[in-house]
Amino acid sequence: MVSGKIVIPDNGEKITFDKGEIQVPDHPIIPFIEGDGIGRDIWKSTRRVLDAGVEKAFQASRSVAWCEVFAGEKAKQKFDEWLPDDTVKAISEYGVAIKGPLTTPVGTGIRSLNVGLRQILDLYSCVRPCRYIPGVPSPVREPQKLDVVIFRENTEDVYAGVEWQQGTPEVKEVIDFLNTRFSSGIREDSGIGIKPISIFGTERLVRQAIEYAVSHGRRRVTLVHKGNIMKFTEGAFRDWGYELARREFPDVCIDETELWDKHGGQIPDGKILINDRIADAMFQQVLLRPDEYEVIALPNLNGDYLSDACAAQVGGLGMAPGANIGDQVALFEATHGTAPKYADQDKVNPSSLILSGLMMLEHLGWQESAELIYSALGEAIAQKRVTYDLERQMEGATVLKTSEFASAIIENIEG
Ligand code: NAP
Repeated sequence: MVSGKIVIPDNGEKITFDKGEIQVPDHPIIPFIEGDGIGRDIWKSTRRVLDAGVEKAFQASRSVAWCEVFAGEKAKQKFDEWLPDDTVKAISEYGVAIKGPLTTPVGTGIRSLNVGLRQILDLYSCVRPCRYIPGVPSPVREPQKLDVVIFRENTEDVYAGVEWQQGTPEVKEVIDFLNTRFSSGIREDSGIGIKPISIFGTERLVRQAIEYAVSHGRRRVTLVHKGNIMKFTEGAFRDWGYELARREFPDVCIDETELWDKHGGQIPDGKILINDRIADAMFQQVLLRPDEYEVIALPNLNGDYLSDACAAQVGGLGMAPGANIGDQVALFEATHGTAPKYADQDKVNPSSLILSGLMMLEHLGWQESAELIYSALGEAIAQKRVTYDLERQMEGATVLKTSEFASAIIENIEG
């Protein structure tokens, strides 16, 4: 069936929601955006791997009915639009989607297609698991000690896009107002950006992080902030996070005072420790005491930095999966960009998108297939059959093309 710019597969059914709970049919229709540049290479391989894992785990009883939707250069070529409404509507309607990287159009007035998708679909948390796969080259001595899932707020903070360029009449008006009304002492030749952080934005993010910890058996949730300096934004994020934990999860959450006063520093069975760390200290903590952290919730800018820093510790962006998740829609994506110099060469590492696909399978409740693929990917790395980016850092490894790496994983799945 054709709906606008999209061909809807007739061998699948729609995912639905019952009181906010996802209801997944055996053959869910899942929209995908192939992506620009290397997106074309990594998506083909990812799809083969995901299909092979699902087939091995469930034979014919379950499968994904893939539905291509368009964004980026492919949409521009086909429809003369960077982000067609039909694409956004389909992702919203089908509830779960996956995408490759997209080019940021230059000189079009569009800030970023990725940011656009997150805003329109209100995907308020960016979820980035950072877990080490043995054999992946890492810059630290004990990369296996880091196993965290980062929940970064995706809609507020200095990313809200409320800013004025130096020298414009608008910025002059803002500076005049602040200096006259509040004696702010801002230099006349400044540019200005606004950093809004709300109770609403903070609570829904921290709630999602705690719910994740509960459902995945994680025992610590850490609020990371720069509240010692930015008291009414980052400091408020910390305070509102603690308040939400006390109010909505009173039977589950304990704080550090209770941990030491009542439990001698040991998290009791069935409880989750909520603590907080100042952002600069946290960058040291993930290097020096990585095994003390499990789920991390933080505002947008700090989250941006910390997710890449943690990804680097476990093997870099080529190995880092991600998802943008709202109340009903979840969009899974590779965390790296389109690397245009490698486009269509069948060369780059598809692991980031494959691992994002595994997050997607887990989101569907299809853990068996995700686990099969995860261990098959780990085996390919242990066998030192890897793409160029890993091979150049490993001794005695065999360099594979993107498609060959996918085949190596599939062999291990079927093995
Ligand atoms: P990039 O595309 O991430 O590439 C930078 C470098 O990272 C590549 O040259 C390559 O390093 C390495 N790399 C990236 N992906 C890899 C993979 N799958 N396998 C192996 N190596 C990989 O960053 P960029 O060049 O700054 O950005 C290019 C475009 O992507 C821009 O238009 C940007 O806006 C866009 N972008 C999109 C997203 C997204 O859609 N989520 C995210 C970031 C950037 P070596 O050359 O050292 O091998």
